[in-house]
Amino acid sequence: MIHELRATAGGNTGAEGVRSPQTGPAGEPAGLCEARVRCYAELNDHLPERWHQRDMPVRFAPPLTLAELLAALGLSTDAVELALIDGSSVDLDASVPDGARVSLYPAFEAFDIGPIQRLHEAPLRQPRFLCDAHLDKLGRRLRLLGFDTVLAEDATGADPGDDALVHLAREQHRILLSRDRELLARPELTHALEVPQAPVDIQLRCLIQRLQLQRMAAPFTRCTCCNALIEPVDAAELRDVPQRVRKRQERFWRCPGCERIYWEGSHHRRMRAFVDGLLRD
Ligand SMILES: [Zn+2]
Repeated sequence: MIHELRATAGGNTGAEGVRSPQTGPAGEPAGLCEARVRCYAELNDHLPERWHQRDMPVRFAPPLTLAELLAALGLSTDAVELALIDGSSVDLDASVPDGARVSLYPAFEAFDIGPIQRLHEAPLRQPRFLCDAHLDKLGRRLRLLGFDTVLAEDATGADPGDDALVHLAREQHRILLSRDRELLARPELTHALEVPQAPVDIQLRCLIQRLQLQRMAAPFTRCTCCNALIEPVDAAELRDVPQRVRKRQERFWRCPGCERIYWEGSHHRRMRAFVDGLLRD
């Protein structure tokens, strides 16, 4: 069965006006184009079950933009983070050519493609992460940038096992970061990314660029040890801070999770320069 779309007057007919469809020999309007559309992960929830995880043929009268295609499929533009036409990322105004293969991804679906162009200026969701074992340095860097990040060993014990990680990623809607391709290929995972084998700062830079995290970062708002959001605290309440620090510092923060105290010392200034460099790229 063909899922059929037709251009409507005032929609995508533009200056050419409404075309009167010609009828072909089979009784169907002539001049229809066809595209094959595939939705990934939770975008399938919007489609009839027979088209889940399959190429869906869609016929339409040209011209048709991607935004019009989404509307005709009942997909909100907010639900679609990334769209590819014939393998190239496109924006909502792109026209859908005859014979096109259209791939639609929700926010942060795992994919393996080249340079991408996002549909929206800012990604849709505040991303949350789950770092597989051996990625705890990367996880602490993500916390430094303000991202809610759970480390495998924090969440599930010393050796969590793949099942526990998959369950946690799904239950808490976290993007699983891993270097284990077998784990990343688990079909239950909808949000997962492979982390390159590289020094931690390179890994972090790749992740920032891949997910366009720059504008969502809130550096120095989260405890790097336990992931809780830190809170400003009055210096008078702090008994354990050395006198020399109190003399130099005016502002302090406390982690409500692990009671750690933070202030803007020389280490902070070095980290601030590091973070500013990361987020400027
Ligand atoms: Zn803490």
